[in-house]
Amino acid sequence: MKLLTKTFCIFLLSSTINVSAQDAQAVLDRASRVMGVDEMISISYSGTGWVGAVGQNFTPSMDWPRLELSSYKRTIDFDSMSSTEEFVIEQGDYPTRGGGGIPIQGQRHRTYKVKGEHAWDMQGDDVVPVLSQAERRTLDIYLTPHGFIKGAIASNPTVVRRHEYGEWVHVVSFIALDKYRINATFSEEGLMHRIQTWLPNPVVGDMYYETVFTNYKEIGGLQFPGRWHQHHDFDDGDSLPNVSGGDHAFGLENISEVKVNVRGAELDVPREVSRADLPEIKVEVTELANGVWLMGGGSHNSVAIEFEKYIAVVEAPQNEARSLAVINEIYRLVNDKPIRYIINTHHHWDHLGGLRTYVHEGATVITHNYNRTYYQEVLRARPWLLEPDRYSLFPPEEWSEGYVFEAVVEKYVLADDKRRVDIHNIQGLSHVEGMLIAYLPDEKMVIEADLYSPRPSNADRPPNASNRTFYDNLQRLDLDVETIVPIHGQPTPLSQFIEFVRDR
Ligand SMILES: [Zn+2]
Ligand SMILES: [Zn+2]
Repeated sequence: MKLLTKTFCIFLLSSTINVSAQDAQAVLDRASRVMGVDEMISISYSGTGWVGAVGQNFTPSMDWPRLELSSYKRTIDFDSMSSTEEFVIEQGDYPTRGGGGIPIQGQRHRTYKVKGEHAWDMQGDDVVPVLSQAERRTLDIYLTPHGFIKGAIASNPTVVRRHEYGEWVHVVSFIALDKYRINATFSEEGLMHRIQTWLPNPVVGDMYYETVFTNYKEIGGLQFPGRWHQHHDFDDGDSLPNVSGGDHAFGLENISEVKVNVRGAELDVPREVSRADLPEIKVEVTELANGVWLMGGGSHNSVAIEFEKYIAVVEAPQNEARSLAVINEIYRLVNDKPIRYIINTHHHWDHLGGLRTYVHEGATVITHNYNRTYYQEVLRARPWLLEPDRYSLFPPEEWSEGYVFEAVVEKYVLADDKRRVDIHNIQGLSHVEGMLIAYLPDEKMVIEADLYSPRPSNADRPPNASNRTFYDNLQRLDLDVETIVPIHGQPTPLSQFIEFVRDR
């Protein structure tokens, strides 16, 4: 009898799945017809709009700073999974507070391409392989309305029905690239309202992603959304204080051209791209003074500082992989002392992606008081299923005890008999609120991020607002400095910076 019941249940379960799959196919078939996907092999469309600099907000509670998209063109070939995105960004009339190169001078042209597992950028006529972007860009094809419909039809889609904003809708789901669940919401008429997924992110884990499609227009016999509105992460502004406000990532409007089955949409992978390998993580160590090391070799440096009983590190940039590589090198330099402190200059994501790694290593975070509530969120266990990090797999005990932060307002001193580091707040900055610098009075060094980045590509540029604010703050604090140690670029004599900022 027991056995019979079991068999019956299994039968019921499998028949439910079949019905669901059939319903999903019916929803997709209708959408495919209405949105013109049936006969579509490729598509191109263009428009104008805006982009958000994700992870670069002025304060954690504010939205991503926006830039104008003065032109945008997307071409996709679905058979070969080729995509080309060409766009131009400018500052436009958007506020000039925040990171990500703001304020942008003139126009910046971008061309992003992908075909299968090969991704590359075009800089003028130069091909720049970016293998690390291939999966993301391929996924991006499935995150367009037409790509989703094609991908879902070819998979095992499921569907649920719900009532939202006064109408019945169907939410169809499938798993793309064996990893990413993508959902799309369809109206009864077969128009896609919304697409959502989660992207792996070194700061917030499985980061919520959605694009909302509205203002449908009939173009060449098919229905095409006239307005695309995209979010990366949440704005929790309804719960005050607003801890995390970044969300608007991309908006496309003024659709000027939609073409189906265009010539040349299938890309040829350039030879230098098919030959390219993923770049290795390099850590280049330079001793700046006795017991002070620059951990370079990438786009972002860290600085390791030895104290009597422990090590303090300035900056945990990028991601876990970078941070573990730097930490390994630090333990090679000093193998008997723990990393007790991680000094974080500011909350921008490219400077924050290794924070969880250092905290997992046992470090206490020294950061500006402004960041405290946001970092509590970052260090709390949101889901991290797409790319789990150590912090999510082996959650540290200390977190629940609540002594992870040293919050700085204007000045904080880290010192013992061997070493002294003064941490100061930078005032009046438009790049970010709550920017810290680390000053080593005995070594006459100041460690800073994004205030002065002496890279060859910056040599001919005039000083920007951050450079000038840094100069003003060095005057205000009256620090005795000989060397500037930047997070981006190589250590530079103070005299060179003074010349650069004063004479132009
Ligand atoms: Zn920054
Ligand atoms: Zn930076």
